[in-house]
Amino acid sequence: MTIHCHPELERSPIQTAARLLADAKRLLVLGGAGLSADAGVPTFRGEGGYWRSVRSEDLASRDGFDKAPEMVWDWYRERRLTVANAQPHAGQRALSLLQRHTQGTILVATTNEDDLLERAGVTDVVHLHGDLFTTRCAADCGWAARDDQDNALSLASCPACGAKVRPGSIWFGEPLPREALDRIAAFDPDGLLLVGSSCLVKPVSDLPLDLVNHGCPVVEINPEATPISDYVAVSLRGTAKQMLPALVDLLTSCTVRDQARRIT
Ligand code: NAD
Ligand code: ZN
Repeated sequence: MTIHCHPELERSPIQTAARLLADAKRLLVLGGAGLSADAGVPTFRGEGGYWRSVRSEDLASRDGFDKAPEMVWDWYRERRLTVANAQPHAGQRALSLLQRHTQGTILVATTNEDDLLERAGVTDVVHLHGDLFTTRCAADCGWAARDDQDNALSLASCPACGAKVRPGSIWFGEPLPREALDRIAAFDPDGLLLVGSSCLVKPVSDLPLDLVNHGCPVVEINPEATPISDYVAVSLRGTAKQMLPALVDLLTSCTVRDQARRIT
């Protein structure tokens, strides 16, 4: 069930969004590739995304790696460089403010493998699709190390067993980390702010509709329509950098919180 707003009290979509989200006691913020796009990290499917020229399955999959490990590593090395040279944008920094302001009532999760949220000051980020800067054993012997200086580990064999090494990202067809899913389940969100996700990659894509079906407020920020746009309470059509600072401003203002308590 979607929560509908009182028409005469509705001022703008962003105010409506703030009013609905301010009422959540456990707000989950879920960021897709679009959350990092304004920092200069391309999305996979959006305008100018990697996926326009190369098939995702040929790069971010076990099959693709087994067939052409060098090509896959070239691509990951380039992505690491792009992320290392990028800076968090105002929307990502706004999330850090929101987290400090609301103290324990929001959880930030992302399908992004980059570290821009952490560098923006967000803490305890749940990484659903792994970490771009981890290099680990492709034969699963358990060896893994952080490789964020010069990519040197990606050029060698596994120091523990001699097998090839692979990026720490979760690839298509691989299960999501149990611990990350458990943290979201334990948090038990009653509101969702979805930022820059095309909602096409399962199981993360199931989450918004689950919450909508439980009557929880779901707001999306995305410059383009997504498969869930018709179901969410509010779709804010704009980029993360445009929308998040303004939304966080409203969310952290007492006025909106008070309003949220008064209006049902
Ligand atoms: P996606 O590439 O499928 O979709 C990105 C979405 O972001 C689109 O809906 C697009 O309209 C929207 N978008 C584009 N620019 C935006 C902006 N400035 N502000 C807000 N939204 C914007 O990405 P996805 O749905 O996250 O899933 C694909 C997978 O690709 C991810 O799970 C992740 O593993 C991986 N990925 C990660 C990174 C990263 O680490 N930064 C980057 C690209 C892809
Ligand atoms: Zn090994």
